Amino acid sequence: MEFQAYWLLALPLFFGLGWVAARLDLRQLLTESRALPAAYFKGLNFLLNEQPDQAIEAFSEVARSHQQTTELHFALGSLFRRRGELDRATRLHQTLVDRSEPGSDQRLAALHELAQDYQKAGLLDRAEALFLELRGSEYQESALRCLRDIYVAEKEWDKAIETARAMSSRPGLEPPEREIANYLCELAALDFAQGRRADADRRIAEALLANRRCVRASILQGEWCAREGRVLEAIECWSRVEQQNADYLFLVAPLVHQAYRGLDRADDSLALLTRWLEQHPGLDLLTLVFQAVLEVRGPQAALALVRTELHRHPSLPALDRFLEASLLQGLTAAPGGASVERVDLEVARDVVQRQVNRQSVFICRQCGFKARKFHWHCPACGQWESYPPRRHAELDESGRAPSM
Ligand SMILES: [Zn+2]
Repeated sequence: MEFQAYWLLALPLFFGLGWVAARLDLRQLLTESRALPAAYFKGLNFLLNEQPDQAIEAFSEVARSHQQTTELHFALGSLFRRRGELDRATRLHQTLVDRSEPGSDQRLAALHELAQDYQKAGLLDRAEALFLELRGSEYQESALRCLRDIYVAEKEWDKAIETARAMSSRPGLEPPEREIANYLCELAALDFAQGRRADADRRIAEALLANRRCVRASILQGEWCAREGRVLEAIECWSRVEQQNADYLFLVAPLVHQAYRGLDRADDSLALLTRWLEQHPGLDLLTLVFQAVLEVRGPQAALALVRTELHRHPSLPALDRFLEASLLQGLTAAPGGASVERVDLEVARDVVQRQVNRQSVFICRQCGFKARKFHWHCPACGQWESYPPRRHAELDESGRAPSM
């Protein structure tokens, strides 16, 4: 194809058309931006300057003057709730509920938000009523979880069990069976305290049916047997923990030892406890077995035990016990003799003990709350069995117990 001179005329034409199109776009943009209220930009500006209070006031002004900005109302409402301004959140969500058509998606979303406001404000009866209304809607799963939390807070265990059973277990979330077993243990403890022993046993059987590895059920049952004087049966219940989850043996070891001591069978106790320590080593178990050996057989035997443990599983907590035993042994060997070695040992033990104490905490897997004592139910986030049965000092960086 040959080049024609008149094609050159087309160039300015295309250029002109491009210019007109650009002007049109710009005009459209300007019209749209004028439609957005100035307060909206003011709010954005405050947000960018990290002045959330002023930003909220500016957005509230937009929400007041532009009632159709529903999304903005929802965003503001949850922001108020998160900041603890529950009065404002409740008012805003109530307005959204009143304004929406019955049965509409917007009304359900507003009810869901309002119920959460009430729950956070501690108005649990009102929250419960709204969450119950949301069953069968697209908010069912969230409503069930909130209802379960309400029933747990109110210690309404039967309703908590029913709600947890209705919840579907999703990947990444704890299966509800473990929680259900814990609720059944709560009910069983209540039954036992009120003299309904048969009911308590039935609940424990149910708990073990829901979660056969429910250590708590075995511990409770053992405690009741011991209180009724059936000590051997109690030891049997507590010993079940070894099959259920040996990591929890440190919870039953002192009970078993006390029970055997009561029967004047300290040797049987030491035989069982040292076998547990050999097969399922752990910091708390080592401390307990060490104390038991010290009490029954004296410092020399205790020192021999921790020396073996230190060689088998070298760790800071084991070293701490070893230094403690060495000091005790020295104390009996040379009473009152403040040799130089003893002073050195005391300083070393002090340093090691401080470090071990700092790390001797249980840390909630869910919220990171640290506790010196083991809890079945996290006092901070309310999760069940969220504390691993090992202290932080024993866990490696991945959060798992190092292979011992
Ligand atoms: Zn927690």
